[in-house]
Formats: sequence, structure tokens, C-alpha cells
Amino acid sequence: MTSLVTRSLAFAGIVLGGLASVGACSPSASDTSIPEPDPAGSGAEGTSGGTTTSGGLPTPGPVTDAGPGGTTDAQDASFTYGFPTKWIDGTACGTDPTIQTWKYAEGTFILRQSLCTTFEGPFMYLFVGTAKALLVDTGTGGVDLLSEVTKLLAGKFVQLVVAHSHSHGDHVSGDNAFKGQASTTVVGLQTTAVKQFFGITGDGPASFDLGGRVVDVLAIPGHQAAHVAYYDHATRLLLTGDTLYPGRLYIDDWDSYRTSVPRLIAFVDAQRPVSFVLGGHIELPKTGADYAYGVKQHPNEHALQLGDAELRELAAGVNAMGATPKREVHTSFIISP
Ligand SMILES: [Zn+2]
Ligand SMILES: [Zn+2]
Repeated sequence: MTSLVTRSLAFAGIVLGGLASVGACSPSASDTSIPEPDPAGSGAEGTSGGTTTSGGLPTPGPVTDAGPGGTTDAQDASFTYGFPTKWIDGTACGTDPTIQTWKYAEGTFILRQSLCTTFEGPFMYLFVGTAKALLVDTGTGGVDLLSEVTKLLAGKFVQLVVAHSHSHGDHVSGDNAFKGQASTTVVGLQTTAVKQFFGITGDGPASFDLGGRVVDVLAIPGHQAAHVAYYDHATRLLLTGDTLYPGRLYIDDWDSYRTSVPRLIAFVDAQRPVSFVLGGHIELPKTGADYAYGVKQHPNEHALQLGDAELRELAAGVNAMGATPKREVHTSFIISP
């Protein structure tokens, strides 16, 4: 996310190359202290059973081995563990890991940085192919994401590409740990660098082949100029970063945003059926008003996953506003221009 207050800092963060704790939505000084290392390495506690509620992919019944270290003999590429019953939410800082890793499917991981380390509690995603692995976002820094990702890729001889949903500090500040690592490429933060890397021309999508797995990338500026969406054909997951998530959708450039959202609809309508829409944060409880800005505990959090319906609801809301944006509260997101 970002806010009016931090927007200028966001720009500074980009110009300075995404220095840790400089960007927008990045934590205040008190949030940047390096947390205790995670003794367990990672771990979603109590991560039994997927809670998939909708979508076209088959979902297993109760899963007992999902989550970090989970294994499966499933041969079906569409097999998914669904989602954890609960993400680390800042209410158990003494025992929760600094990064919760959830194995959504074979070669598909969702990672959450603990709210105990930053009020942003950003989500990161790892898609693994036979030749490359794509890490989308690196969080606010200050936690050992590199070790976590290295562990997940152990035994897989792949090139790691570190890319981003967009260039705000709360999604790029962990980049430095990856720079200079073997077999690792860190994609730049400027819009031109992002487009060049993925081969995006104009408003059209580009395809990024991970080896046996293709992820399509679409530019969707508005929340931030370098924002892109990722669609993974293997899982049909659509990553929307801070353009759509269960929380306050801040928008830097309304005209770009209201062009990007229908472009995203056209993108999924072009034979990219969506199982789930996954964004960069959760800022809503299951019921009731959004958490206050900056709080580091999210009791009773809303699910991370949204669906195709919420994407279309956003598009309808944005379209109805036309050139005159306004704050509008929806059930699962808040348009906050
Ligand atoms: Zn954000
Ligand atoms: Zn943002």
C-alpha cells in the first residue's frame, strides 16, 4: 500500500535504488529494527487444511502436510493445498516466524512477512519452473527472505529471477540480499527496466517462460507507475499487487488506474481464467471496518484470496466513477484514491 504521506518518500526510494526502509509504505524507523532470526527457518503453524472456497481448480480435502516442508505425491499440476486457515497476523510475535511460508501447490509458494516486523505485512510469491524461478516482491527487508527462498529452491537447478509487483519500498526493500547472488537476476525498479526485462511493449501482455510453466505479465500502472500483474497458467493465480487486495487501494495516478483495471479484465478474459486473485497486503478484518493505518496486529484477518468476482466489482466501481475518483467501501476492498 502507500499513502499520501509517504508518497514522496516512495519516489525517493525508487531513485535511490530501493534502499531498505526508504520506500513508500515502508515502516517508520521503529519498524525497521532487525527482528530475531526465525529459529525454525519458516513455518506456518496450524496450517492444516486448505480453505479454498471458490475457483475452478480441484482442491483436496483436509491436507495434513501442506505448508513448509510439505510434500505431496500429487501428479496433477492443478493440485493445490488451498490456503492456510490463518496467516501470521501480528498477535503472536513471541512465537510466530518472521516469514510464514505456505506451499500452495507444487512449485508455488506464498510468503508473508510478519506484521511484527512491519505493519505492512506484505505478501511475496514464488513460482518455480524447470529452468527458472520467479520471486515476486521482497518485502520491507530486515528479515531473512534470501535463506527462505534458497531453502525452497534447494535441489532445483534454476535461475532465480527477483521481480516485483511494483516499486514501492514495502515490496522491494529486500532486494539487496539477492543482488550478487549466484544464478540470480534482480529486475530493476523503473518502469522501463521492468518492461524491458519482460519484453512488454505497449499495453499488451508478455510471456515469461520458467521452463514447463509460463507466467504472463501485464503493465497495470495507477497505484504506482511500474506496477504489473502476473498470471500463472499452471495455477491460474492472478497476482495483483497493490492494485487489488483486501484493503485500502491507494491510487497515485487515477487516469492510469482506471485504464489499467479494464485492461486487466480484458487480460483475464483472453483465455486466462482466474482461480484466485492474490494481492500484496491484507488490511481488512473478516467483518467490519479496515484496520487503522500502521497497526501491527490484525486479529480476525480477512482472507488473502479474492476472486474473479471482486476483480469485476472493482472494475465496475472504477468505471462508474469516471474521471472523478472517490473513496468507496466495498465488502472486500476499499477504493481509496
Ligand atoms: Zn504495498
Ligand atoms: Zn504500493
